[in-house]
Amino acid sequence: MNIIKHYVDGQAYDGTSGKTQPVLDPSLGKPQSEVALANVDDINHVIESSAQAQKVWAKLNPQKRVRIIMKWISLINENMDSLATTLSLEHGKTFPDAKGDIQRGLEVLEFALGAPHQLKGEYSSEVGAGIDTYSMRQPLGVVAGITPFNFPAMIPLWKAGPALAAGNAFILKPSERDPSVPVKLAELFMEAGAPAGVLNVVHGGKESVDALLDSDVVQAIGFVGSTPIAQYIYERCAATGKRAQCFGGAKNHAIVLPDADIEATADTLVGAAFGSAGERCMALSVVVPVGQETADRLRDALVARIPSLQVGHSLDKTSDYGPLVTQDAKNRVENYIQQGVDAGAELLADGRTLDMTDASYEGESLAGGFFTGPTFFDNVTPEMSIYTDEIFGPVLSMVRAETLEEAVKLPNEHEYGNGVAIFTSNGGAARDFATQVNVGMIGINVPIPVPIAYHTFGGWKASGFGDLNQHGPDSFRFYTKTKTVTSRWPDDSNAGPQFSMPVMD
Ligand code: NAD
Repeated sequence: MNIIKHYVDGQAYDGTSGKTQPVLDPSLGKPQSEVALANVDDINHVIESSAQAQKVWAKLNPQKRVRIIMKWISLINENMDSLATTLSLEHGKTFPDAKGDIQRGLEVLEFALGAPHQLKGEYSSEVGAGIDTYSMRQPLGVVAGITPFNFPAMIPLWKAGPALAAGNAFILKPSERDPSVPVKLAELFMEAGAPAGVLNVVHGGKESVDALLDSDVVQAIGFVGSTPIAQYIYERCAATGKRAQCFGGAKNHAIVLPDADIEATADTLVGAAFGSAGERCMALSVVVPVGQETADRLRDALVARIPSLQVGHSLDKTSDYGPLVTQDAKNRVENYIQQGVDAGAELLADGRTLDMTDASYEGESLAGGFFTGPTFFDNVTPEMSIYTDEIFGPVLSMVRAETLEEAVKLPNEHEYGNGVAIFTSNGGAARDFATQVNVGMIGINVPIPVPIAYHTFGGWKASGFGDLNQHGPDSFRFYTKTKTVTSRWPDDSNAGPQFSMPVMD
């Protein structure tokens, strides 16, 4: 079986651990390749390669670096279809959704082309007699990104683009569940003219991550994944004095006011709740209609749409969404559905009843695929686990609220604070909501408010640990350190030794 290797120094690297793990085809429910898993020696080898390459890379002026990134963008676009096909086959998201994954990553590379501007320092002349002060932004050195399975192109590019443009060497440790596209992206970066070792990719689990966290050479960690791991990485980085930004899980609410267009909102909600099988950190998994009449109308509109959703092979053009990533993920989601039933929520659509026994795609049976149908609960209450926990599957919960205040209290008091959306035609209510809600990214009649590349992305509360967000200007702040120079050139004004604190007067 094909082994997906690490990518170090501009070439495939076997590693020394001898350990591999299967990479599955989630639509068929069987292995399609193996991925090499790194041990501590392999990580040390990767770090050494990155440290050498960074010295060369940082010496290129920023414009030369971004010209290579510009070429990289072209190569990714030229290879879009084959990258999206590979991504779809390993992750299980549909082909158009896989292209969206790559496209949202490309947008951050496009933003990173502005590195010469983003890296500009500040200058103040005559801060004292004959004294000028200026600042510069310098790369950190070797930095690493540890990324989740659910966006195997977008999130690696969000991290690598600004880090590389700023002059760092980047070590990517992608998810071992869908590792092929990250390697392909690094190969294309080399093809674009990057020096070997500037972007290395290493696969593995906890052992490899811990070796990166404990390295004295690695200066910063950009993490995206589940909250317990985000918190673990943040704390371990703090203990070793490493810079860290760690983004975690989510439970995103959609608040629907009585004046919303219910039919349009229902269309939007099915896409945002069930698209990508609900495996998006910005998926809407809770809907909160305000008032019983709004709730009843919305419930009817959702119940009418759900049966027509098509679940199938990720490359099947008729599929609205594909399988979950693994059998464990499917079991976990379906276990939550049972918890919802046991807790007394009203199950209006049960994804467990989806029958794929006779389903096939291009002659291959989908009976073993990790599919769960769209699931919809009404009368969910805030203490139920289907409300408190991130399910990360195609499950939508309706929590009814009598007033807007009662509705807003829900996302405000929830452990997670990644995204939230409000559906209304009342501008004043939407504006107040956006100002007051205790969540990082807000949609006003926009279901998945992932900010554009030149703004920043980041959740609040248990959805994000660290001070600086991903992409946008924050990304250059995260991947650089500021140095401030105060200078005076020799002249005739030697005042002799000064023993008190210098002040600028
Ligand atoms: P995960 O936490 O299981 O894995 C993320 C990364 O951490 C992977 O590279 C994995 O190999 C590594 N890892 C896993 N266990 C580890 C351990 N014990 N020690 C060290 N490293 C470990 O997450 P996932 O299942 O790949 O991704 C889904 C999660 O990511 C969801 O919770 C989702 O909400 C979250 N997510 C968040 C955002 C965001 O921006 N907030 C974006 C996408 C996904």
